[in-house]
Amino acid sequence: MQAYIDSATEQFRALLTEQIARQERIAAGSKAKDFTAMEKIVIGVCGGDGIGPIITREGERVLRYLLKDEIEAGKIEIRTIEGLTLEKREEVGKAIPEDTLAALKECDVILKGPTTTPHGGNLESANVAMRRELDLYANVRPVCVPEEHIDWIFYRENSEGEYVLGSRGVEIPEKLAMDFKVTTDAGTRRIARAAFEYAKNNGKTNVAIVTKANIMKKTDGNFSKICHEVAADYPEITAEDWYIDIMTANLVNPAIRSKFQVFVLPNLYGDIITDEAAQIQGGVGTAGSANVGDTYAMFEAVHGSAPRLIEQGLGEYANPSSIFKAAAMLLRHIARADAAEKLEKALIICTETEKKVIATGEAENAKCAEFADYVMSTIKTL
Ligand code: NAD
Repeated sequence: MQAYIDSATEQFRALLTEQIARQERIAAGSKAKDFTAMEKIVIGVCGGDGIGPIITREGERVLRYLLKDEIEAGKIEIRTIEGLTLEKREEVGKAIPEDTLAALKECDVILKGPTTTPHGGNLESANVAMRRELDLYANVRPVCVPEEHIDWIFYRENSEGEYVLGSRGVEIPEKLAMDFKVTTDAGTRRIARAAFEYAKNNGKTNVAIVTKANIMKKTDGNFSKICHEVAADYPEITAEDWYIDIMTANLVNPAIRSKFQVFVLPNLYGDIITDEAAQIQGGVGTAGSANVGDTYAMFEAVHGSAPRLIEQGLGEYANPSSIFKAAAMLLRHIARADAAEKLEKALIICTETEKKVIATGEAENAKCAEFADYVMSTIKTL
């Protein structure tokens, strides 16, 4: 037993040292890009696995349509990034092959198709690796149900919490297992800043800080405390503490849910509650997701690679709505708000009010490309 304790203590010492160094790197800071001042913006598109290449192909077509003039003028380049496929990742034994990672780092923003993560084995999720390698610390997910007066945006901390050391816990066989949850001051400060900046820039008046600080006193306690310190710079915005358990209930309570606007949460709570919120909107397929850092940002559909659709030969019938929502978020991120608004408006018409063409993954409905044509012809009418 003593040998286990000694080895775990040594491991803990190494983890602490490593995490303090990580906090120092974050605290040293980097500055977010100002897309309005850039001479050229590179948008990388990587297809991923399963239906990924099919839906991203259509996402790229819509982006090219909306950005035609700036692409022709050389102000925006859309670049295909190869190699983020399961076959290649397994061949080189890396979550992201080195040449692919280097190519991604040459881009400013990325539109990414879903990638398959095999059960078991040692291959790390490409998404987890990308968040870490490109320091994409904010997972941003908007959820909107106009008829219910729901207009939410979630700022989920994306780089620490339970995830940063998720596969490096301690186990004493048949006795106990311990995992580690890490909250750094600098890591919390930057996600809080991102949430409050969004609130300020978008006329929001309320930010909900969602934790379990009554139980997780150190990690969540600090998360809440630092969020309030950041909130002090935004006197026009109310910062409210909520516990994750009651917030999970609030989101399905029509009497209260429409009062929420912006949420800021640690990683695991954010992971869970954003799927709940997407379901309220109509399912995880209806949401787009942004993974944002100061230097890079990646935008993707919320769903996975749908291997069953491919096996059944129905890949071309995949619904691209979710990646289109992600493309709209990408446009907003690079300060192309007009183009983003057109795409968002067209999506509301095509998926909610008019629904002349629907793609569901079933052969009796439209193909992914036909739905994209419908969206682009709708944009033309706006
Ligand atoms: P999934 O989202 O791929 O599929 C769930 C269900 O939704 C399936 O019935 C599928 O056919 C359907 N579906 C998904 N997207 C669709 C679309 N655009 N149009 C029509 N139908 C659609 O979830 P899963 O089966 O749990 O995961 C499959 C793989 O995707 C796994 O390897 C998982 O790790 C990976 N995954 C990747 C990401 C990502 O890269 N961001 C996210 C989630 C899952």
